[in-house]
Amino acid sequence: RTVYVNGDYLPENEAKVSIFDRSFLFADGVYEVTSVLDGKLIDFNGHMTRLARSLSELGFTYKADIDELLEIHRELVKRNDITEGLVYLQISRGSAGDRDFAIKDDTPATVVLFTQSKSLIKSPLAERGQKILTYPDVRWRRSDIKTVQLLYASLLKTEAAAKGADDAWMVLDGYVTEGSSNNAYIVTQDNVIVTRQLSNDILHGITRKAVLKCAEELQLKVEERLFTVDEVYAAKEAFSTSASAFVCPVAEVDGKKIGDGTPGPIAKRLREIYIEANRATAI
Ligand code: PLP
Repeated sequence: RTVYVNGDYLPENEAKVSIFDRSFLFADGVYEVTSVLDGKLIDFNGHMTRLARSLSELGFTYKADIDELLEIHRELVKRNDITEGLVYLQISRGSAGDRDFAIKDDTPATVVLFTQSKSLIKSPLAERGQKILTYPDVRWRRSDIKTVQLLYASLLKTEAAAKGADDAWMVLDGYVTEGSSNNAYIVTQDNVIVTRQLSNDILHGITRKAVLKCAEELQLKVEERLFTVDEVYAAKEAFSTSASAFVCPVAEVDGKKIGDGTPGPIAKRLREIYIEANRATAI
């Protein structure tokens, strides 16, 4: 596999980053994951807009050059012959050549990209529906910034898997925030799609935005508001969204069946429409 590090395209075993890199020592880095269908990037501009916001919220001096990043994404997709999969981009604040909590403004950012070939459209998980377990959300309270500080989400996902589930949804003050690496939704008994409103408590999902637009076009009712775990148990359907899993139906939460315990019609329809619409506008 060919990867990209700071201006160079290299075989993955030759790519190097300093041990003093701040993303390694302090998780001082941000990232984006863009999916690839038919060799083209899905919602690339959406991801770059969020990247710019993450960089700015953390006060990075590095400014993303979107045209250059597009060129690198495309080059890696081409070199690695990716027709379906992902491009991972990480920008670290870089290295000051030592370990120091205080950030120095003049550290040159570390820019790393790599690809992953993966079947996205055909998904056994989406076909059977996910099993979810709920856990407290004890992350730092800036979950809107897409940092590489993913340890808690990673521990939860591992624990959920050890208990036979597929993923974890997090709960803050009694209300669902989001999944370990996706946004969370329910469909109420009267067919209203409910998802938590944007704030510092959740990542502003690029897929979330696109899926809410699809819902609007299908004239489905959407409410962006807080919802409880009890509302999840009582829901007709549930699903999650992310760039890599699109719309993924939920079959069970905390051992309780959602609806009849199979993917619901609204989630399935949104998955189809999302794929169709975003495939058509991929670049
Ligand atoms: N929430 C969290 C915590 C995530 O890590 C992700 C994606 O990685 C999402 C939501 C979904 O965001 P997107 O649709 O932009 O992939």
